[in-house]
Amino acid sequence: MPLKSMHTGDQIVESFSRCTKNGFVACNLAGEVTYISDSMEDLSGWLESELIGQPVSKLYALPESISNSIDIQDAKSQPAVVYKRDGNKITLPARQVTIKDPETGEIDGYLTLFINQKGDIGRAQSDFISTVSHELRTPITSIKGFAATLLQHRSKLAEDKRKKYINIIRDQADRLSRLVEDLLAVSRLESKKLQLTIQPLNIKNAVEKIATIVEQKHESSHAISIDAEPNLAFVWADSDRLEQILTNLIDNAVKYSPEADKVEIKIHMGETNGQEMMQIDIRDFGIGIEEEDLDKIFGKFSRLDSPLTRNTEGTGLGLFITKSLTNVMKGDVVVNSEKGKGTTFTVFLPTNSYTPDYSQED
Ligand code: ADP
Repeated sequence: MPLKSMHTGDQIVESFSRCTKNGFVACNLAGEVTYISDSMEDLSGWLESELIGQPVSKLYALPESISNSIDIQDAKSQPAVVYKRDGNKITLPARQVTIKDPETGEIDGYLTLFINQKGDIGRAQSDFISTVSHELRTPITSIKGFAATLLQHRSKLAEDKRKKYINIIRDQADRLSRLVEDLLAVSRLESKKLQLTIQPLNIKNAVEKIATIVEQKHESSHAISIDAEPNLAFVWADSDRLEQILTNLIDNAVKYSPEADKVEIKIHMGETNGQEMMQIDIRDFGIGIEEEDLDKIFGKFSRLDSPLTRNTEGTGLGLFITKSLTNVMKGDVVVNSEKGKGTTFTVFLPTNSYTPDYSQED
């Protein structure tokens, strides 16, 4: 049912249209869903087509004391539980108003507003799309430009120039494919479609493997040392995701310490939030991070502005993916850093079996 066809009074319709970030649901007097806004679909993961005609109890539970005001402005918010499609629950402030039949003026249903405390979904999405478009445009422009030059002036270009342009095209295509891979990883994480096989893994072997790959990739003079406690317990993790986490962090340690010659990794049992966990400290002696920037770096597309970062390949998605993946695997990543001195990223991972926590982002 289109929103406008529900006679809720002009004031109510106006209020709702101003609150597009909030979710709203209409039901009839029998308590069956008659309408779900797009933002409610985003909040709950349900599609309108799946819930029309279904009891509202499938989607939410309101406190018995909720008032049924006729004006949304007068209605008082009370905490309500929203049952998400993936089986998780979220509690949001909700307000309910009555819907009147436009002809008879009789009450024929209720409209419930769920206040989205996470902010404006619409704006966050459009910010994300504009950042992604910008990130994609840069390599595409470069590939098109150099390919056009090669086509037009192939015979006139010296061999070394031709080689240089072809290398740029290859590097930019690599950058595009990394970006697309990272975006897919973010999308899988956010839609909770990540498939994980949690199994006991030898953490020392995994760190050694990734350290060797990173050393070879950078052909760097960095020596990556690994100091592992004897008789380490297994970590319970998904093998590919564990490698992705370690690759991001060890690669960053090398990338952001061009003047240094070493990265130190320690693997030992540690503790976080009162729980025993495997602890992996990845320490570099590079550019470091200002204290006020420490909590920004785990956000999507966050790259700290510095001459080194500007000249260093990266999407700004690595740490977001790393943190989200470790959280899904019931672990965590924390950072300690001193500007100009270096940075230590610490990964905590469980040493016991568990069910992955896909709900961690809520
Ligand atoms: P990127 O693809 O840019 O490396 P990340 O998400 O991995 O993206 O990191 C986000 C930002 O955090 C980087 O752009 C950089 O500014 C900063 N950063 C990450 N790791 C380090 C480190 N080891 N030392 C200093 N700065 C770092």
